[in-house]
Amino acid sequence: MILILEPNVDRHSEPYHRLLSHLDDLAPAVNHRIHTIQGAEQQLTEVYLIGNTSTLAIDEMRALPCVARVIRISEAYKVLGRHRHDDRPAHFDYNGLRFGQDTLHVFAGLCAVDTPEHVEAMMKALRELGQPCTRMGAYKPRTSPYAFQGHGKQCLPYVFDLAGKYGIRVIAMEVTHEAHVDEIHETLERLGNPTGVMLQVGTRNTQNFELLKAIGRQTTYPVLLKRGFGITLDESLNAAEYLASEGNQRVVFCLRGMKTNMGDPHRNFVDFAQVPVVKRLTRMPVCIDPSHSVGSRSRCPDGILDVMHVTAQGVVAGANMVLVDFHPAPEKALVDGPQAMRMHELGPFLEDVRIAREAFEARRRLAASMADTD
Ligand code: PEP
Ligand code: MN
Repeated sequence: MILILEPNVDRHSEPYHRLLSHLDDLAPAVNHRIHTIQGAEQQLTEVYLIGNTSTLAIDEMRALPCVARVIRISEAYKVLGRHRHDDRPAHFDYNGLRFGQDTLHVFAGLCAVDTPEHVEAMMKALRELGQPCTRMGAYKPRTSPYAFQGHGKQCLPYVFDLAGKYGIRVIAMEVTHEAHVDEIHETLERLGNPTGVMLQVGTRNTQNFELLKAIGRQTTYPVLLKRGFGITLDESLNAAEYLASEGNQRVVFCLRGMKTNMGDPHRNFVDFAQVPVVKRLTRMPVCIDPSHSVGSRSRCPDGILDVMHVTAQGVVAGANMVLVDFHPAPEKALVDGPQAMRMHELGPFLEDVRIAREAFEARRRLAASMADTD
């Protein structure tokens, strides 16, 4: 059960203390956990009641001091899930941008940061095309211990400075250890926060529960959680719930394909048919990663790259974010050069995304016209 309190509730007020003492009396059968969500205009407080809540009457809970609304939730995905009569928002704001199940952002950029020149060329191209987001890998989890592991914290200052210079507002950046969050935070603070970061949890760490809990405990940065490559969707959605149950609800869920030979010759079996499924089960915006799904620059006889085909498929299904590898000199890239798109392809790629998004919007209007007959 979730109690949604009146907006901007005063935590020092007498009614708030009365509410808490009432909730304390429910323990140990029912425990509570308080979440605060800072929106653009108001602060929302949600109280999660965990345990045997079946004996609690909704009307009685609604009558408690400071309580505006009560939602009875199912067991699955308590915080991030969609529940009956649940009108909690399916979006969040970060660094001037809105990320929601109704928006679409492209994060084109380098799989791995290599040189300041390549970072600058990428960001310059993004600015010319009015793009405020990018991806930049500093900490790279690699299959082989002998492979390039990323420049780590050493590259952060120039990446963030250049982002500020070219008006980039959000960088998706993978972290593989809690310490990386501190390194990112310290660098951003020292530079005066020229840009923002969306912390990426990679597919190899989807069930690294201690990492998830640590990232969930901080609420400065939103999180892009990749689906685990060899686990069920339910298991990956529960991983997202780890972040939220610790306090960070600003989570974007990313489909990136599944590891199986059934998807050959693609690097992973493309799973973008699940974009609408994740939107139905949860309130998270859904990202697709066509680069790590396809893993090559293969092209269909129709002239369209597989990467662009699957991007369009995901966007036409309502994806809210596209994470895609680009590189100014793919032959020199230290990671994943063969799947990277080229700079001159950025404009056409964005146009293709726009076409697919328009098709999605038209499909939504069509569905709305059918709604009454359902
Ligand atoms: C990446 O996005 O750079 C990456 C390593 O992706 P994944 O975790 O999905 O393999
Ligand atoms: Mn990669």
